[in-house]
Amino acid sequence: MPPALPFSPILLLDLAAEHAAYQGELDAAWHDTLRAGAFIQGPAVGEFAAELSAHIGGAHVVPCANGTDALTLALLSLGLPPGTEVIVPAFTYVATLEAAALLGLRPVLADVRPDTFNLDPAAVRAALTPRTGAVIAVHLFGQCADLEDLMAVCQVAGVALIEDNAQALGAVFTFASGKRAYAGTVGEVGTTSFFPSKNLGCLGDGGALFTHDAARAELLRQLANHGQSQKYHHQCIGLNSRLDTLQAALLRVKLRHLPAAQAARQAVAARYDATLGGFAGLQVPFRDPRSSHVFHQYTLLVEGQGRRDALQQQLKVQGIPTAIYYPLPVHAQPAYAYLGYQAGDFPVAERLCGQVLSLPIHPGLTGEQVEYVAAAMKPFFRTECAELKSNYLL
Ligand SMILES: *Cc1c(COP(=O)(O)O)cnc(C)c1O
Repeated sequence: MPPALPFSPILLLDLAAEHAAYQGELDAAWHDTLRAGAFIQGPAVGEFAAELSAHIGGAHVVPCANGTDALTLALLSLGLPPGTEVIVPAFTYVATLEAAALLGLRPVLADVRPDTFNLDPAAVRAALTPRTGAVIAVHLFGQCADLEDLMAVCQVAGVALIEDNAQALGAVFTFASGKRAYAGTVGEVGTTSFFPSKNLGCLGDGGALFTHDAARAELLRQLANHGQSQKYHHQCIGLNSRLDTLQAALLRVKLRHLPAAQAARQAVAARYDATLGGFAGLQVPFRDPRSSHVFHQYTLLVEGQGRRDALQQQLKVQGIPTAIYYPLPVHAQPAYAYLGYQAGDFPVAERLCGQVLSLPIHPGLTGEQVEYVAAAMKPFFRTECAELKSNYLL
């Protein structure tokens, strides 16, 4: 039994707490949609797309049914022939390569950087072949991948960069030239997800695509709606992948509150950093000076065999839930055994899977709760230190 805490339970994600602050606005959007009745392609869908476009610096926004469909649509829009290779990070959520695999494209894995956990441009360069058609970079946990070098590698090779931006909506990357760009708006196409746990989550499934190219936006819009240019006129083979009007109406409300939610996440991260920064054998999230971090996750690295799992267990008995994103690298998943990779092929991804630990982070987390979590970690590292010392003395 976790101890009784002097505050409400600490949750990994607390949507009820987050929504409570503007429950009335959500209720109104819900009831308005119910009364208006245009449940598919109602006006809220276009209104939300325009508002999100303004939020990310003006790229076209094409809503769709979820973040995985967004990746499928992005790949379809590139018209890659079957068997084309698509380079993806070995450390990511499986959806990143699922879309490619389902389309008959061949996922080619590349290792990630040990500091940012994001795709390593040098590994991408090494994985390029004449059959490479696209690279999918993931902005994992809320921080941009190295868009500068990834864009350079892709441009030299003449392949498209897709940004899987399901976790970093609102993050900004600053290029050496001083140019700044929102995550998801740099490559040929960007994708995102409004899965409830994402930084901008709806109350069900949802997703969107970003592009600066008006023609590609139009193609994506058709692809997401049975390939039709107008009703019963089909230009291409598409999907049924639309964002529901209800979700768009709720997302319009949540988008208005996103800047405050993002600031709250960043404040939680700063508080964790301040307390946990000095623990030996524990790495707080690396901050790439070129990218802002919107902290979809606050992910620590716990060094040493088995220590991560011991720490997770110790926190659990103190009423602190944590999560492991992700316990297995992609090439160790049975579904992707057919790609023929071996243990040891992606050493960084493999090491991360044994060491990552994500702490609770959400806009509803109170300062008191954050202090409690940070304080609960201290004894673990103190006892460990004492143990190490006594082992050494023996
Ligand atoms: C959540 C997520 C997806 C998939 O989004 P869905 O909306 O759940 O389909 C894809 N890629 C990454 C990195 C994600 O975190």
